[in-house]
Amino acid sequence: MLIVGDGLAGTLVAWELKEQGVDFEVWSDGSPAASDVAAGMFNPVSFRRLLPVWDAEDHLKSARSRYRMCEQALGISLWHDVPLLRIFPDAAYAALWDQRIEEGHPVAGFIERCAEGDWHASVAAPHGAGRIRQAGWVDVQLLVTKSREFWRDGKRWKMQGWSLEVGCPEGFDAVIDCRGVGAESDLSQFGLQVRPNQGEVLTVRVENAMGDETINNVTWAMPVDSDLIRIGSTYRWDMMKAQVLEATQKELLDKANGARHGAPFAPHQVVGHRAGLRPASPDRRPIIGRVSDERPWYIACNGWGTRGVLIGPRTADWTVKTCMDENWEVPKEVRPDRFRTFTKN
Ligand SMILES: Cc1cc2nc3c(=O)[nH]c(=O)nc-3n(C[C@H](O)[C@H](O)[C@H](O)COP(=O)(O)OP(=O)(O)OC[C@H]3O[C@@H](n4cnc5c(N)ncnc54)[C@H](O)[C@@H]3O)c2cc1C
Repeated sequence: MLIVGDGLAGTLVAWELKEQGVDFEVWSDGSPAASDVAAGMFNPVSFRRLLPVWDAEDHLKSARSRYRMCEQALGISLWHDVPLLRIFPDAAYAALWDQRIEEGHPVAGFIERCAEGDWHASVAAPHGAGRIRQAGWVDVQLLVTKSREFWRDGKRWKMQGWSLEVGCPEGFDAVIDCRGVGAESDLSQFGLQVRPNQGEVLTVRVENAMGDETINNVTWAMPVDSDLIRIGSTYRWDMMKAQVLEATQKELLDKANGARHGAPFAPHQVVGHRAGLRPASPDRRPIIGRVSDERPWYIACNGWGTRGVLIGPRTADWTVKTCMDENWEVPKEVRPDRFRTFTKN
């Protein structure tokens, strides 16, 4: 098998193939990857409408076990359990939160209501807050970098570009396309849309500034080390380049400071500011499977969007099942034919 792209998608697909004892090679052209900048956060709750993320429980289970396996294989630490404190924006949101718990809504298993003041002294939460314990982050950059070294040492990695017109190179029986936004134009030939969603994230050096949980007031601030936090993210549809915008720094700091009583995060504390392009599908779910009758060897694995860390391991597993067994049914939520624009040619 040939995997093109060595971001999170290519990496997790490669580990899945390795687990199954299938021979593979990974190619990448070294172009900027969303995975190079991802904060790595996972959270089973979608806050806007206060619902569980699609199949959250199963994704969490697969993710935990797959990243643990990678930790053992590479001798590194990737998985960090960090609870998340959701600051309520107003009384109506607080009431919705309580209602979800009272009525035993499917999201209720993931959310807790915090007693007044049950949070770090630096946190401002005038309308109260709730907690998600099954949240945290995965060190995506460490996983991707160490995996690349591992494949390279095993002569399974090459710096080489690929596109659909190259076809299935000699010696391979399938190509798994994990090129993120790099696959945009090839997938558009089949009526499949992968739109670049530009995002930025800051790394800020502070000491004992906010306790040991992620604070979320739409913008989030996440502790990643004793004196380092990440603040993110932004979402823009009008940028086609992984380019940092100067104005974003102030925007993110101001928003994060909106949830603080303590000393505000300041520009001089910013030690990193990075941008990337998330590969987003129209319904925000991955696009997995064969997309072309004429090219049955071509398998798409794309559209990981904003939640690659959580949904990635199970999605990689489905991708590999698709490659290995032509009769295996790709789950309908991620099949290319769920889009009316899809043309299988
Ligand atoms: C600012 C920001 C913050 C984020 N934070 C989070 C977060 O906290 N949690 C979360 O779950 N997700 C987060 N994400 C989203 C996450 O990054 C993506 O879901 C995930 O990384 C997508 O992985 P991918 O492998 O599909 O794409 P990418 O990481 O973009 O990888 C694509 C790969 O394809 C290669 N490539 C491209 N074109 C070619 C070609 N022609 N030939 C060969 N190789 C090619 C590239 O070099 C790269 O290796 C964030 C994204 C951004 C931008």
